[in-house]
Amino acid sequence: MEKWPIGVFSSIDAGMGVQLDVAKELGVTTIHLHAPTPENRTPQRANEFRAKLDDLGIRTTVVFGGFDGESYADIPTVTRTVGLVPPETRAARVQEMLEISDFARLLGVDVVALHLGFVPHDASDPLFTEVVEVTRRVLDHCKSNDQALHLETGQESAAALLQFIDATGRDNLFVNFDPANMILYGSGDPIEALKMIGDLVHSVHCKDGTWAAHPGEEWGSETPLGEGDVNIETYLRTLNEIGYTGPLTIEREIPNDPERQKAEISHAVNLLNTLKAQILG
Ligand code: MG
Repeated sequence: MEKWPIGVFSSIDAGMGVQLDVAKELGVTTIHLHAPTPENRTPQRANEFRAKLDDLGIRTTVVFGGFDGESYADIPTVTRTVGLVPPETRAARVQEMLEISDFARLLGVDVVALHLGFVPHDASDPLFTEVVEVTRRVLDHCKSNDQALHLETGQESAAALLQFIDATGRDNLFVNFDPANMILYGSGDPIEALKMIGDLVHSVHCKDGTWAAHPGEEWGSETPLGEGDVNIETYLRTLNEIGYTGPLTIEREIPNDPERQKAEISHAVNLLNTLKAQILG
């Protein structure tokens, strides 16, 4: 398989991600798929979507879970609303992740991923143990579907993430590395984090952003790829050093402006192809 094929986010439901015909036009061959809403998680929809992708020569490499009620408005809101950490929604969301895993299997996809939420950094905190336990439930279900689970980076430092992965004691938990999230959340230098997480990185996002004036208290700003503080060339060189060969999946949502989104993603595809040619020779 080609090293570092280009990817984008797409969806089965209307609204999020890049339309498949646009992806095709831009020469994109892989996607990360936003998991569809429950009404669309049927065998029929899975078969239709698979057939469409086969026609276009596009492959789904990861299905991303997401939940009603999540908001990325600011960092305290993320803490309160995102992932499997908030106690009020945890049981229902765990159940939904199991269903998303089953839907990914219908699509023939062997990786599901999610933003777990802000995992407590103190392993003696009862919340830490609770989140480890529900993550094991999801992991064991994924295992029964021959799948791995990838945790999106961002909310915690690389050290905290590694501690959490180790605590689960499972062999199908890996990392979807998003360098911009490390900057946006103020959770550490992304290149150093990437080196630390190393071969546990099994999928990546290509996204860029700038540090906030007070990192960790307020959001940094997302930017077009190559215009933020990630340093995309160093990012790719480091991916090469740690032996990462999977897709380079561009993540850029510009709600309600598909033309601008297409233009930015096109620019990102060109940037990645140029850097790939330089780095891989
Ligand atoms: Mg991401």
